[in-house]
Amino acid sequence: MTQYVYRFGGGVADGGTGDKNLLGGKGANLAEMASIGLPVPPGFTISTEMCTRYYDEGEVFPDELREQVADGIAHIEQVTGKTFGDASDPLLVSVRSGARVSMPGMMDTVLNLGLNDETVEGLAKKADDARFAWDSYRRFIQMYADVVLGLDHGVYEEALEIAKEDKGYHLDTEMTAEDWQALVGEYKKITLDEQGEPFPQDAHDQLWGAVGAVFGSWNAERAKIYRRINDIPGGWGTAVNVQAMVFGNMGETSATGVAFTRDPSTGDKAYYGEWLINAQGEDVVAGIRTPQYLTKAAREEAGAKPASMEEAMSETFRELARVFDTLETHYRDMQDIEFTVERGTLWMLQTRSGKRTAKAALKIAVDMAAEGLITEEEAVSRVEPAALDQLLHPTLDPEAERDVIAKGLPASPGAASGIVVFDADTAEAKSEHGRDVILVRVETSPEDIHGMHAAKGILTARGGMTSHAAVVARGMGRPCVSGAGNVAIDAKEKVFRVAGREVKEGDTITIDGATGEVMMGKVATIQPELAGDFGTLMEWADKVRRLRVRTNAETPDDCRTAREFGAEGIGLCRTEHMFFDADRITAVRQMILASNEAGRRAALEKLLPEQRGDFKQIFEIMAGLPVTIRLLDPPLHEFLPHEDGEFEEVAEAADVSVDTLKRRVSELHEFNPMLGHRGCRLGVTYPEIYEMQARAIFEAACEVAEESGEAPIPEVMVPLVSTKRELELMKAVIDETAKAVFEEKGRTLDYLVGTMIELPRAALRAGEIAEEAEFFSFGTNDLTQTTLGVSRDDAGRFLTQYVDKGIFPRDPFVSIDIEGVGELIEMAAERGRGTRAAIKLGICGEHGGDPASIAFCEKTGLDYVSASPYRVPIARLAAAQAALKSSDPR
Ligand code: ADP
Ligand code: MG
Ligand code: MG
Repeated sequence: MTQYVYRFGGGVADGGTGDKNLLGGKGANLAEMASIGLPVPPGFTISTEMCTRYYDEGEVFPDELREQVADGIAHIEQVTGKTFGDASDPLLVSVRSGARVSMPGMMDTVLNLGLNDETVEGLAKKADDARFAWDSYRRFIQMYADVVLGLDHGVYEEALEIAKEDKGYHLDTEMTAEDWQALVGEYKKITLDEQGEPFPQDAHDQLWGAVGAVFGSWNAERAKIYRRINDIPGGWGTAVNVQAMVFGNMGETSATGVAFTRDPSTGDKAYYGEWLINAQGEDVVAGIRTPQYLTKAAREEAGAKPASMEEAMSETFRELARVFDTLETHYRDMQDIEFTVERGTLWMLQTRSGKRTAKAALKIAVDMAAEGLITEEEAVSRVEPAALDQLLHPTLDPEAERDVIAKGLPASPGAASGIVVFDADTAEAKSEHGRDVILVRVETSPEDIHGMHAAKGILTARGGMTSHAAVVARGMGRPCVSGAGNVAIDAKEKVFRVAGREVKEGDTITIDGATGEVMMGKVATIQPELAGDFGTLMEWADKVRRLRVRTNAETPDDCRTAREFGAEGIGLCRTEHMFFDADRITAVRQMILASNEAGRRAALEKLLPEQRGDFKQIFEIMAGLPVTIRLLDPPLHEFLPHEDGEFEEVAEAADVSVDTLKRRVSELHEFNPMLGHRGCRLGVTYPEIYEMQARAIFEAACEVAEESGEAPIPEVMVPLVSTKRELELMKAVIDETAKAVFEEKGRTLDYLVGTMIELPRAALRAGEIAEEAEFFSFGTNDLTQTTLGVSRDDAGRFLTQYVDKGIFPRDPFVSIDIEGVGELIEMAAERGRGTRAAIKLGICGEHGGDPASIAFCEKTGLDYVSASPYRVPIARLAAAQAALKSSDPR
């Protein structure tokens, strides 16, 4: 019989951290905590395998599961001495979901399950606290109605509001036992009205309902959206954890809280968290009451009054701090923890590696290596490469004027400016139209995920540092200011008011997630600082990486930025951008409009010194490093005007008639420019263009060698080759030009001639192309387009659906299609090396900055990847992680 139920607590642990795939993260870690002797309420986990089977078999529970669950309940009963469904001493449980990776706020939990009209009396007597018992019961009905019965929770919330209003209360804490009891009556009436059936009274019925709901929540819309954004396969399923309740709402010596063993925002080594006295479960993150600080230091720094846990429950706090240290040493990572104190006794309810900002990730990794908790290599593998993006982008200029209108909590660092929107759908719509938006909400919920994803930043009026908005924003790397209490939002009117000011939808604001400040207008930014922990981790990464990292850059600014970010050369310098310069475009157009070779040469003559100047600058900046220059690639019509209004001006500047210009434009028109007269096809038909470019490259290289004493390392790249003969012809032009220039300049220098591999035929014929090519650079943007027969510019209409329906595992323009395009690359690499063992192999598509694609490049044994300047550090780290993975025997 397959084991579907795994017990934990009371000295038993059937599973552990190693069983995350089977037990989900929450279940595996509960078992692990129990096995290292931490106080965990007893319970059991139903495996993810069961979830998969449940869906496979049409959403029914097999008999073997019923038997195993009965044993699980017996285990809890035996440890707690209470009985499930018993009227005098009832066992209450929570039913919690838990996927392999944490999906914060995505799945639903039911607390206090097992309560009914009889057991509530038993609970009241046993605890000697009727208020607590009825409070628990009303919470249970509300959660169960929402999560399991699928009823509108708004109706229940309204009933509570009305009850408080009738009594003239402001806070839930003012409700008495009788008030809660009356509300329970009201809740049961509502349930009967809403579903036509009474609230289920049988504890076992309640349990199975809840288990089914947890499985069901795996396929809820918001869970699907979260999985899509985070690349989590739908087939994983969720586990279900059933666990004895412990009560943080049993009066003033009880409490509940969430904590991090280090600061998840800054990475500082300080306990960090929030707690509430006499509260249960989600109260801390729900934003109903404002949570209190965990430590005295944090409370004082924030200037808050309500006592910290360290002050109010010093003994329990010390015990909690010992647990923090035990957990950090055991897991060797920063932990995110849930705990509850029941009448002075501490219980651990969850631990997991805590989500953190990129800044914190760096600091924690570097600090833990220094503390000897992890190795340098582990530190390198701990930081998510893509997260570095957060650090590489500009932050607010401290010198810039700030018109601060509000201040909230610094929930997720980084600065963002954008127009104000008040709901997730508008955020998504506006951002699709290219607008930067700041999503402003009273508080966020899982329904807002798509809007948070689309927004540049998030501002909430309510909620603490561990609120939904804060946690999700940190996970996504979005700047977030939460709990800006003075901000009064009128979502209907689409306006918020603060300090006598009115901010309407569409107005621009700036938020600073590091300080919590909200400012009117757009505030100037500055470049980030790359020393410190960032520099240290990069150094460690460089020690283990095999792949070289180059950059795609053609402007001096980009080249400098890339070099500062650690680029080891240029993998792709596109020359066409240089032609668009206002001073040059006229000569380019004259070249295109010329009726014969002599005319073209005359125009090219004017461009030569300009191109030479471009290359000299680049060679100087990249001194000592290889520079791959791609000869002209796009179709010529891209340089001609297309708008009617432009023709006259252009014709006059180029000294031709408007008719000639128009005729040439229509001659050059192509039905399918991507597959038209471009790439080396230009060089084959107009060799003088490539000749001029080669001359500019070699003259520049000779001059720089002369002036600096250091010879540049040019690598001349011919685009869009599909046959050996094309490259042979172009290489002859390049070599002859080199020879001529070297004779004129009285010096020679080393250079390479190679080709892009961006057409399937080139990959297939790579063996013979390598007879001519000294290097291959995989142009994976075009190679993806030509292999899939998908135009990148037109794919928007169907690509999302293709990913949703599992046709492509990911967007193939973001992450290499390993099975298809990847196989062509592997084949070309192998065939190229077969001909020329030392052939240099690199990749210069957008994929060069994508960690998954970089891992593929490592596996294929390429020599380098080339990424846009801001992605260079990401590529360095990803290359290091790929090297570590491939040397790891597991
Ligand atoms: P989530 O994944 O959304 O955090 P959880 O299953 O962790 O959901 O539970 C939600 C809240 O309920 C948490 O605050 C958790 O600590 C609390 N909780 C869960 N189980 C118990 C329990 N057995 N006793 C007391 N509190 C619980
Ligand atoms: Mg929850
Ligand atoms: Mg939790």
